[in-house]
Formats: sequence, C-alpha cells, structure tokens
Amino acid sequence: ITIGGEYYIERELAYGANNYHPLPVVLCKGEGMFLWDTSGKCYYDFLAAYSAVNQGHCHPKIVEAMASQAKTLSITSRAFYNNLLGETEELLCKTFSFDKCLMMNSGVEAGESAIKIARRWGYEVKGIPQGQAEIVFCSNNFWGRTIAACGSSDDPDRYKNFGPFAGLNFKIIPYDNVEALEQAISGTNIAGFMFEPIQGEAGVVIPTHGYYEKVRKLCTKHKVLMIADEIQTGIGRTGKMLCLDWENVKPDIVTLAKSLSGGLMPISAVLGKKEVMDVLVPGSHGSTFGGNPMACRVAQAALGVIKDEKLVENSEKMGEIFRKQMSKLIGGYIKEVRGRGLMNAVVIKNKKGAWDLCLKLAENGLLAKPTHGNIIRFTPPLIINEEQLNECIQIIRKTVVEL
Ligand code: PLP
Repeated sequence: ITIGGEYYIERELAYGANNYHPLPVVLCKGEGMFLWDTSGKCYYDFLAAYSAVNQGHCHPKIVEAMASQAKTLSITSRAFYNNLLGETEELLCKTFSFDKCLMMNSGVEAGESAIKIARRWGYEVKGIPQGQAEIVFCSNNFWGRTIAACGSSDDPDRYKNFGPFAGLNFKIIPYDNVEALEQAISGTNIAGFMFEPIQGEAGVVIPTHGYYEKVRKLCTKHKVLMIADEIQTGIGRTGKMLCLDWENVKPDIVTLAKSLSGGLMPISAVLGKKEVMDVLVPGSHGSTFGGNPMACRVAQAALGVIKDEKLVENSEKMGEIFRKQMSKLIGGYIKEVRGRGLMNAVVIKNKKGAWDLCLKLAENGLLAKPTHGNIIRFTPPLIINEEQLNECIQIIRKTVVEL
C-alpha cells in the first residue's frame, strides 16, 4: 500500500526475525491522531500501538519532558536514589489508590513481577508449603511472550515448542465463569488469580457485568490475590481510569504499562497493597532500567496529559458514539460490534474478510489490524474528537460498502 515502500519491507524480511505479519504500510511519522507513510500518505491511527499511545503520537508535553530529562539525567540504576522516583511512585499510588508501586519496563515484566510477588506472598503470608504455590489464569489470556506468559497460555501459536512449562504450577479456567473460579481457588495452595478485565488480544471479550464483584468476594473468601492486568484496559482506554472501576472493584495488585509513557518508551508498573508489596526486600527483585529518571519524568507527563485533557471522559463519550454508529453496519460483512469506551471490536463474517477489510481501510486512510482471525480491534488514541470520529466512521462505512 505504501508506494515505494518495498525497500523497507525487503530489509525487514531479509534481516529481521520473522515474528510479525504487518500490513504493508511503512510508517515514518506520527502526530496526534495521525500517521504518515514513507510516500507521504496520511492515515488515521485506529490501533494506537495496541493502546500505547492513548495520548496521541508524539504528544508535545511528553516529548518535552523526555527531551529535557534526557539532557539532564537519564539513568542512575537503583544503586542510588534519584530525585524523581519517589515522586513518581507517589503519583502512581495516589492516582490509582494503591499503597506501593514497583516500576519496571515492559508489560510482560510487570506481569512476571506480579506473579513473583503473589508467590512470595503465598509462601510468607498465606503459608503455602514451599514449592507448591499455584496461579490461576483464564482461557485465551494474553499478557506477553516470556516463558511464564507462554506457560500460562492455551493458544498453541504462543506456547508450541517453547516448553517445558511443567513446573510453573499454572491453572487455566474459562473466562467469565464464577463456578470454575470458585472450584479452582478453593484449594489451599492458590496464591493469585491473574486476568485481563476485558480480554484485549482475544478480541475485546467483555465478561458479564457483576463478574468482578463476585471475583472480589471469592478471592477474599479463599485468601487469593486478585491481580488485574490493566496493561491494555487501564489509563482511560475503557472510559474509566481503570476498567475495574466500572464495577467499583479494587484488586489486590494491578499491572500497568503501554500508555504509562504515552508510547515514548517502555514503562510499566505494579501497584499493590502495602502488606502484599512488602514481601519484596532488597535483593529479591530489580531491573537496571526500572524506575529510571527519564521513565519517571515521562510517566508523570503522560499521566498529566490524561488528566489535563480529560481523556478518560472523552474515551467514554466517543466510544458511545462509535458503537452507536457502527451498529448500523451490522448485517452482511459485519456480524457484531462490541466494546467499552474506546476499546472496541468488530466481528467480521470470516477470517480473510478481516484482513481484506484492514487492507482496504488502509487504502482509504485508516489503520487497524485484525486480532484472532475475524475480529478487528478499533482502539484509536483517546484524543480523538467528534469530527474526526465521524470522518473515521465514514471511512469504515465506505470501505465496508466497497468490499
Ligand atoms: N498484558 C496485556 C493485557 C497486553 O495486552 C499486553 C500486550 O499487548 C501485555 C500484557 C504485554 O505487554 P508488553 O508487550 O509491553 O510486554
């Protein structure tokens, strides 16, 4: 689709590991809602780097924070204190109403850290016998690509020939199923239940309203840590600061990443209650880059933009309009429209249809990507305004009619 883009695509194919299947668009510039390819064509971004750019591309306030901090002090390691870490941890704790914070880098590292914390809490606080701690996950979960993340997955694309995973002691139960959860966590060796409040990679799968209230009660009853992976759903994506706010439910641990930096660098965090997070002691966990001064300044700026520009409220409002308008397209090519806030998906009648629709959408100036075959995720930056949204809906409508 990018005219003259073959040079760049050929380099990736020749020298890059073959672990992605991108749309044939070669991007070289981003600003706000928009991306440009190397031939100068402009697109609406309707993926937002898997929700890493909720604040829009290259947000000037975040860029400024990053650039000025890069010239001042980028990294100290945690061998010393720095003047930004404590302040950023305080901001994170107060913004999301938790007691303690651990800053890491990628999303999957936050997930790994949460599991380590839960296991240690299991042994030291709950009294699980050594080496017996179990963690429960849901079918179709996705939280990254490490060995542990692959070991908790029931999707062969993710775990095939990467094993063994036998010692991990992970259990997989169906999503949105209270009975299965109760059965799984009523044993004595369960340290935590880790889940995505809405499953993103699985195709924006939303559990029944009231599920999380029951999850909260069951986790409390059986003394199991409730671990919410809000890496994709958090920071305004679903129209609340955290997706679990929709049910007024507070987990014991929450993981954040992606838009914690507005897409400028990898930054993640684990937030939790004091009695849980306190199982970490000096020497038990760490990261060279975790909590570096540049990440701290960028995270402060990124959260500032979310608040100052009222992006959580905008996400809810624009999401309502999007689903209302898109629902009119159901029938023929589109089978279903679902979502919350600006985390939406459209189910296409077949797998090839979703890829073809994304190719056509790109031709017509809008970038989106299929997930799980016949589902297209529509997750634009949360800065989108009503006029832009209507233009995007027009593009989608026109493209569906053309196909
Ligand atoms: N958790 C969720 C819900 C995700 O969607 C992702 C990535 O898409 C991750 C964790 C992993 O994040 P990262 O790719 O930064 O490791």
